[in-house]
Amino acid sequence: MSQLSSAGSSGLTSRSSQVGVLSRCWCGGAITTYTSKTDENPYRRFYRCVVGVKEKKEKPMFRWVDDALLEEIRIVESKQNQLLEDLKNMVTNNVELQKEMVREMEEKVEKNMIEIMRQELMDAKESMENSNKKRICVLVVVAVSMAWLYGKMI
Ligand SMILES: [Zn+2]
Repeated sequence: MSQLSSAGSSGLTSRSSQVGVLSRCWCGGAITTYTSKTDENPYRRFYRCVVGVKEKKEKPMFRWVDDALLEEIRIVESKQNQLLEDLKNMVTNNVELQKEMVREMEEKVEKNMIEIMRQELMDAKESMENSNKKRICVLVVVAVSMAWLYGKMI
């Protein structure tokens, strides 16, 4: 009973992995293409396991070629979808890259701002020094006038 269920599950896994155009049977045997001679499917081509054909006891592996091709197309389609998904991811990564670039730009602007600020500060310092000179001039004028006043008082 347990043997049966395990065989059934293994059959399921092998079936799920056996999609599309096959090159080998799940038993490891080579696959050959035959042409159907039945009235139902005249000249319809199908795959058959070579070992399965020779040995009657094996569960025969059988697959119509057009079915397999359809499956193959579906596999290719899903791969295409995966590619599309990858492309989408790449685009999102590109957005990330753009964000990175914007961040770098902002950093550069920030650096420029710092440079501008430094320049402003230097200018301010210079003008402050100028104003100090002016203050010195004022002080000199005041001192001279005070001296003049002092001299006049004497
Ligand atoms: Zn086989």
